[in-house]
Amino acid sequence: EIRVRFAPSPTGMFHVGNARSALFNWVFARQTGGSLVLRIEDTDASRNRPEWVQGIIDTMAWLGIDKSQYEGPLFQSDYVGKHHEAIDKLLADGRAYFCDCAREDVVARTGSSHHGYDGFCRDRGLEPGGGRATRFRTPDEGTTTVVDLVRGKPEFENALIEDFVIARGDGSPVFLLANVVDDMEMGITHVMRAEEHLPNAPKQQLIWEALGAHAPIWVHAPILVNEKRQKLSKRRDRVALEDFRAEGYLAEAMRNYLMLLGWAPADDREIVPWDDIVAEFRLEDVNPSPAFFDVKKLQAFNGDYIRAMTVPEFTKAVQPWLTSDDVPWPTTSYDPEVFASVAELVQTRIVLLGDVVEMVDFFFLDEPAIDEAAWDKAMGGDHAADILTATIDRYSEIDWNADALKAALEEIGAEYGLKLGKAQAPVRVAITGRRVGLPLFESMEVLGRDRTVERLRAAAD
Ligand code: GLU
Repeated sequence: EIRVRFAPSPTGMFHVGNARSALFNWVFARQTGGSLVLRIEDTDASRNRPEWVQGIIDTMAWLGIDKSQYEGPLFQSDYVGKHHEAIDKLLADGRAYFCDCAREDVVARTGSSHHGYDGFCRDRGLEPGGGRATRFRTPDEGTTTVVDLVRGKPEFENALIEDFVIARGDGSPVFLLANVVDDMEMGITHVMRAEEHLPNAPKQQLIWEALGAHAPIWVHAPILVNEKRQKLSKRRDRVALEDFRAEGYLAEAMRNYLMLLGWAPADDREIVPWDDIVAEFRLEDVNPSPAFFDVKKLQAFNGDYIRAMTVPEFTKAVQPWLTSDDVPWPTTSYDPEVFASVAELVQTRIVLLGDVVEMVDFFFLDEPAIDEAAWDKAMGGDHAADILTATIDRYSEIDWNADALKAALEEIGAEYGLKLGKAQAPVRVAITGRRVGLPLFESMEVLGRDRTVERLRAAAD
């Protein structure tokens, strides 16, 4: 019976690397009829915050892994008693010992801080207390072979694994130990996480074995890198799922893209229905080399997913952005019917749901928000003032529909030897405030004669 876990530390926003681990674990559990545990590794009280725990739960649910899909959340802090029992057992069995070496002492003896601990206290038989740390006694000989579904069977020479700390001077268990004990307590069969933890695997496997248990199967998914091939970092790169969500990435696009960070479906397909991904994903096919987290590609995915929606689905999905407190227009001036009449045009033109605001703001603002550079360029163009004046005249009496508005502006442009593209530039900026956006003539049809002419007059003054 396969049992996996996702074990985030609630020390910040939900990182894309964590999201990928959560998804890989969930898909694997689904495929194998196994179960998934959510374990919050909250023992570092100084760095944890309750809102980050909630962020993990909410973001997982957004991605499709709601509480019905896993056991928990279980909290590492509830298992501290078990951690201490394990430490005591290792001490009693001679697999661990107390150590009072300061870092400087070790460096002074070994001549470098790179060699790790030199085993000085191994056989000194120190008693507990006095701020002594507890170290695990690693074997001097042989190798530790970890079975990793992505990496084969990496071997680690035991002589090169230092006697590492399992409890701090104040007796508190460290990550390496707590993480193993929790996995044992929770009956975890496969430990699936990011490559950053690969160096921990042999140490942790030694703890499993010393506690008389069979080590789990390991799965270390490749690290994520940015376009400069640097490891993704929350200080340098955009990595928080909460941020992507707020900008208007769709959960469906996000999870499809995240599954491709290290794995690829057959035939180089990229946009793949979720059920197919769940059926076809194979941990054994995950590539161990670094995976490029390509935000541009993610954006392209998002645009594709937006265009695959029905118009009602799309309209529903953008509502939170159109009705948020942050909109630039007076909230009372939002008109759902106006939006409905351009929804399809908007849908084919945006990449993020949040882009909707800039695309339709000119309908709901009293005056358009002017992009100064676009304004100066358009109004400085050939015959801009003449075109505006002529357009005001024609538009004041013409039949009000997009085709007629277009034909009239075409004629006006022709009188000045300008193609429609050039002739419409000052009109577009006068109406929308911007150089690009929705199709101009449909937009003016929706905006109506009065408001259109009023804006043209304001620009012509
Ligand atoms: N709390 C650790 C982390 O978020 C868990 C590592 C693991 O999955 O074993 O990196």
